[in-house]
Amino acid sequence: MEQRKVVVLTGAGISAESGVRTFRDNGGLWEEHRVEDVATPEAWRHDADMVWRFYQARRRQLSEVKPNEGHLSLFRFQSEVEHVTLITQNVDDLHERAGCTDVIHMHGELRTLRCEFSHEREVRMEPSDLSDDFAYCTCCTHQSRMRPDIVWFGETPMEMTRIIEAVESCDLFVVVGSSGHVYPAAGLVNHAKHSGAHTVLVNLEQPANAEAFDEVHLGLAGELLPTLVSTWLKESN
Ligand code: NAD
Repeated sequence: MEQRKVVVLTGAGISAESGVRTFRDNGGLWEEHRVEDVATPEAWRHDADMVWRFYQARRRQLSEVKPNEGHLSLFRFQSEVEHVTLITQNVDDLHERAGCTDVIHMHGELRTLRCEFSHEREVRMEPSDLSDDFAYCTCCTHQSRMRPDIVWFGETPMEMTRIIEAVESCDLFVVVGSSGHVYPAAGLVNHAKHSGAHTVLVNLEQPANAEAFDEVHLGLAGELLPTLVSTWLKESN
C-alpha cells in the first residue's frame, strides 16, 4: 500500500508554550511592537536601527527558550513516518532543536542574516553577531550591511513552489497554532482541501479560516499533539 503523504504547517502558537510570544494574542502587538513598525521593508528603510534592535533581541532570545511537547511530538511524527513535510511560519529554530530536519521556513529564520547587496545568507549566531551594532557580510569584497533573514509583510515567502507541490499532493494537512490571518500561509488549507486532503487544525482559539478544516481541535498544542500524533501514527503505519 502506498504510504500517505502528510504536510504539517505550524505558526507562532506552537512556540507560545516555550515562551515565544505570538502577535495575534497581544492585540496585534509582537513583543510590545506594532507589527508594521518592525516587520515591513518600509520600517527597515525608515528606521533600520530600531528594526535591527528588535530582531537582535529576538535572536538573543533563542538561547533562552527550548522546544516544548508540541515540537517534540512533531519530531516523533516526522521520524516515524516517511512522508511528513514540515512547513513553518515561525522564524525561531525550535523545530530543529526538537530534532526535526528539512524544515521549510517560509517566513525566514532568525539564525541567519542576509547580505543586502548579494542576498547571500549566513548563519550568524556567534556572541559578536548578537549585539545591537549592525552586522556585515563575509561575501562581498567591500563588506555590506546585513538585514534580518525574515520575510516581511509585502515580501514573497520562501520556497513557495516546493510548498504548493507538497500541499497539493498530500493526503493529510495539519495546521498547528496559526491565526489564519497571514496570507499566503492561511490559504494553503484551501489548496490541500481542493486536492482532496483531510484537513485538521490544532489551535487555542477558532481561527479566521476555521471553515476550511474537516477537524478542529481547540486547546494547547503541547497538550493536544502527543495524543493526536499517536492517532496519526496508527493511521499511517
Ligand atoms: P499568530 O500570532 O497570528 O497566531 C497564533 C495563533 O496561535 C493564535 O490563533 C492563537 O490562538 C494560537 N495559539 C496561541 N497559543 C497556542 C498554543 N499554546 N497552542 C495552540 N495554539 C496557540 O501567528 P501566525 O498565524 O503564525 O502568524 C504570525 C506571523 O508572525 C508569522 O508569519 C510568523 O512569521 C510571525 N511570528 C513568528 C513567531 C515565532 O517565530 N515563534 C512569533 C510571533 C510571530
